[in-house]
Amino acid sequence: MYDIAVVGSAFGGSLMAMIARRLGRSVLLLERGRHPRFAIGESSTPLSNLLLESLARRFDLPAIAPLAKWGTWQQRHPGIAAGLKRGFTFLHHRFGDSFSPGPAGERELLVAASPTDTIADTHWYRPDVDHLFQREAVALGVEYRDEVILEGWKEVGGDLVLRGSRHGRAAEYRARFLIDASGPRGFLHTTQGGAEEEIPGVTPNEALYSHFTGVGRWEDRHPPESGAPFPADDAALHHVFPGGWMWVLRFNHGITSAGVSVTPELAAELNLAEGEPGWRRLLDRLPSVREQFQHATARIPFRHLPRMAFRSPPMRMPRCARLPSAVGFVDPLLSTGFALNLLGIDRLATLLQSEDLQSAEALWDHELATQNDLLAAGRMIGGLQAHFNRPAVFSNLLMLYFAAASFSETARRLNRPHLAPGFLLHGHSTFGPESVGLLGKAVQWPLQVSSAEFRERIRRAVAPVDVGGWFDPGRTRWHPVETAPLFRAASGLESTSAEIEALLRGAGFPEEQCHPPR
Ligand SMILES: Cc1cc2nc3c(=O)[nH]c(=O)nc-3n(C[C@H](O)[C@H](O)[C@H](O)COP(=O)(O)OP(=O)(O)OC[C@H]3O[C@@H](n4cnc5c(N)ncnc54)[C@H](O)[C@@H]3O)c2cc1C
Repeated sequence: MYDIAVVGSAFGGSLMAMIARRLGRSVLLLERGRHPRFAIGESSTPLSNLLLESLARRFDLPAIAPLAKWGTWQQRHPGIAAGLKRGFTFLHHRFGDSFSPGPAGERELLVAASPTDTIADTHWYRPDVDHLFQREAVALGVEYRDEVILEGWKEVGGDLVLRGSRHGRAAEYRARFLIDASGPRGFLHTTQGGAEEEIPGVTPNEALYSHFTGVGRWEDRHPPESGAPFPADDAALHHVFPGGWMWVLRFNHGITSAGVSVTPELAAELNLAEGEPGWRRLLDRLPSVREQFQHATARIPFRHLPRMAFRSPPMRMPRCARLPSAVGFVDPLLSTGFALNLLGIDRLATLLQSEDLQSAEALWDHELATQNDLLAAGRMIGGLQAHFNRPAVFSNLLMLYFAAASFSETARRLNRPHLAPGFLLHGHSTFGPESVGLLGKAVQWPLQVSSAEFRERIRRAVAPVDVGGWFDPGRTRWHPVETAPLFRAASGLESTSAEIEALLRGAGFPEEQCHPPR
């Protein structure tokens, strides 16, 4: 009998198991596969790294904390493959044409997330990273069983009994509480009936992806102009095109992760389900991307997901909780998965700490918070999906995301999380409803206002939470990390300049960027 059984030992389940151990619980971690193994979902963000770092500090996980920054990762875990992510690169392509940034650079957008490599975000090579998390869980005393086939569960005398088999023999596991970390369409979802709900406004895109060697650096053929905030390849590189987008994430051991998310219509036209031939048909429409991949070889068979968007309806279950990744997923655009998952792990950790896991009400609050965060991600991504072929509208909408994400990160760093309620500030008193309105408008084309007026409305919505200078003069295609806007926003963050200075130093900013502008 264990206090807690966690189903799924990827980074989410393993981290949850570590935290429960640190809080003195006996923990059983169950996995249907075997590490190391391929897993998708690789790109971190400032918010996800901040959450990871704070969980690692709060629960004394010294092997995990260094993963929150490129520099400490390279020092502490040089053998765990990773990619350097200085920010987000968006390149808008037209089918059949070579890429050009356009006369005013409107087809290119680079948004920096960090001022230096040392404190940059990362891409996680999940075979290595998930294995590290799982090993660390075991090192902390978590009992681990892999290659377990779970068939169902029931409540017996107030305990949970999970049944299935392992290595051909019947197996039964007992626990007082179950945490489902088994990902989309996972354990509780399927054993509770498997019905799915729509995520309003989201197109259920198809995906096709693999890991490659020999992918060229974009900048080798498209040299950067002076002033670019970071090398376009040292980022989550997004090739956007009518009907979808492609991610290109470079790791430091020669592997590059690449894949596409496209509408069902385009997927059918390309017959994406066929795998590599579908991939080639798409590259044939994107000459500059085809060049980037001309020497590329897929190192594992292509994987096809017929429907990425997934939402499991809210479940009211005493003695069970789900990580956000087991409740839903929208699309990899904007790398929201890790942050949503870590927000959920943070909530469950707090419940565990306060002995509130037995409270049906507290568990229901967690489930609803998870659903609401997912819907907020869905609104944002759905708005962008509607404008893959309109770079100007797409870039303006992105400012809603970057403004909300950077404000949330800053409020948390300042220890004022109450200023940033809900993922992407969906609970914020002004930004929340205004962004809902703007994103609602975005999914109904035509916009019914001029694009200039739409941009102005976005600018006004962003103003109260603008810590990044998103609409400052001169900001169009490039958004470097500048700290002057943060000092300007100090009072809105209920902070003094001295606190902002301390925040910047604590986050590892270069000294010259840690002072208010004169
Ligand atoms: C194509 C794609 C790209 C993505 N890209 C990004 C990105 O760039 N950035 C980002 O933040 N997020 C991304 N995501 C989301 C990201 O993958 C998830 O947020 C993340 O993987 C969740 O981690 P997890 O540990 O909770 O679960 P998962 O990674 O989903 O792992 C679940 C684990 O549970 C195990 N399991 C499943 N069922 C059972 C069972 N019945 N019994 C026992 N074990 C079981 C699995 O084997 C696996 O080990 C992407 C998702 C997709 C689909």
